[in-house]
Amino acid sequence: MPTAIAPGRLFIDGKWVEARTGKTFATINPATEEVITQVAEGGPDDVDAAVRAARKAFDEGPWPKLPASERAKTVWKLAELIEANIDDMGERETLDTGKTYFDSKKIEIPFAAQVFRYYAGWAGKAHGETLPVRDDAFTFTLREPVGVVAAITPWNFPFLLASWKIAPALAMGNTMVLKPASITPLTALRFAELTLEAGLPPGVFNVVTGPGSGCGMALVRHPGVNKIAFTGSTEVGKQVMVEASKTMKRVTLELGGKSPNIVFADADLEAAARGALTGIFYNKGEVCAAGSRLFVEKSVHDQFMDRLLSKIDGLKVGDPRDKATRMGPVVSKAQLDSVLSYIEAGKKDGAKLVAGGERVDIGTGKGYFVKPTIFDGVRNDMKIAREEIFGPVLSTISFDDFTAGVSQGNETVYGLAAAVWTRDVTKAIKAARAIKAGTVWINAYNLFDPALPFGGYKESGFGRELGAYALDQYTETKSVWLDLTK
Ligand code: NAD
Repeated sequence: MPTAIAPGRLFIDGKWVEARTGKTFATINPATEEVITQVAEGGPDDVDAAVRAARKAFDEGPWPKLPASERAKTVWKLAELIEANIDDMGERETLDTGKTYFDSKKIEIPFAAQVFRYYAGWAGKAHGETLPVRDDAFTFTLREPVGVVAAITPWNFPFLLASWKIAPALAMGNTMVLKPASITPLTALRFAELTLEAGLPPGVFNVVTGPGSGCGMALVRHPGVNKIAFTGSTEVGKQVMVEASKTMKRVTLELGGKSPNIVFADADLEAAARGALTGIFYNKGEVCAAGSRLFVEKSVHDQFMDRLLSKIDGLKVGDPRDKATRMGPVVSKAQLDSVLSYIEAGKKDGAKLVAGGERVDIGTGKGYFVKPTIFDGVRNDMKIAREEIFGPVLSTISFDDFTAGVSQGNETVYGLAAAVWTRDVTKAIKAARAIKAGTVWINAYNLFDPALPFGGYKESGFGRELGAYALDQYTETKSVWLDLTK
């Protein structure tokens, strides 16, 4: 078990406080359906207190004015503390989300630590320029923090996606309020404890837990917030954009996806089959970039499907703490119902169910477990190919040639990620150029690095997280003119 989980508290101005209403709500373990603990249900008054604390820390506190090397030290220290607490943080993530220990402890939390380290390195390297435009003036730019950042994050990679926002925001001298998804708040709360250990001044980092509609929207509307960094569904992202526009907040939106994974006939089919499974079933399909539409060139369709289906039994569904488990439960009862209803829609629309397709009992009679599910004979206009299912359901679509594969891959409102599998480097590059998505993998799936920007085209959002690009999202540029004639 992880360290004691502080029940029912918000983290505001460096202190643990109850919600003003005194209300709490339960967070549930999706593997057992049991209550893990009670969490404070923050509302608009709590959001106001958190934003005021962050505002004060920005306007009056030391953080934005510290030498960059001092901020870098603290951000680096946070990376070290995350690493020292991988077990604890990983166990919390597994309890809340149902992802396997392997995914939590070997991938998600270590990657988050890397992100902190990466941005610690940027603290003193993002700077303005001198621009020699005129002899009679001295002109330069300053790069300043945006101010108070509100980070609103989803439940699929709760801490990792928060780290993509926290690390660059802090490194650039901003202060923040984090609102984690209401069903997965535990790692955000533990991280708040780590900020105390790292010596982050009070008010620089605050956590308010609670529902999106009350707590999240209160942040989006709050006039004391300068920027919203949102990751979540396209539907909510659109609401965030509308509301944030009323106070002209800076907004970055990392939203949904329905990513095409395109297998050409000349690909290494064995590698492509493995990649297709990772592409959709990693983290139970609860991945914004999941390769949920698998396009297979017609001439190799049958042999490719044989390879794919021969591997499906290796994807053991079970207790996420068990080493042999490859897929834990989906995150919640609501998500289970949604995934099962999509499976029904696929059958009703005439897609051919070739694997899975149902809930599974792992022997405990509890938990929201779903078998890895594959549909073949899907058309791009079916509901299961158009809408983001965000679960372990793959839609397979055949295509005739390069042009058809790429254009069908692009036939979606989303544009978050894509992959192509081919041995022909020219074809790979042409496809990578033609695909309208923020990330294209060639002969791979789900590769990430703190230095590589990530974000969406089209309705998958805008702005980029990670890499040097993210620094622009957490700074304002100011031009300064000095008249040399007087
Ligand atoms: P969601 O949109 O329901 O919620 C995301 C966050 O927004 C949560 O913290 C939630 O409480 C909050 N929220 C909900 N309604 C709100 C409102 N009206 N105002 C303000 N905040 C509100 O998404 P989710 O179900 O938590 O996550 C799944 C979605 O996130 C999927 O669509 C997935 O593709 C997307 N996602 C995108 C990325 C990316 O990087 N592009 C990464 C992970 C997940």
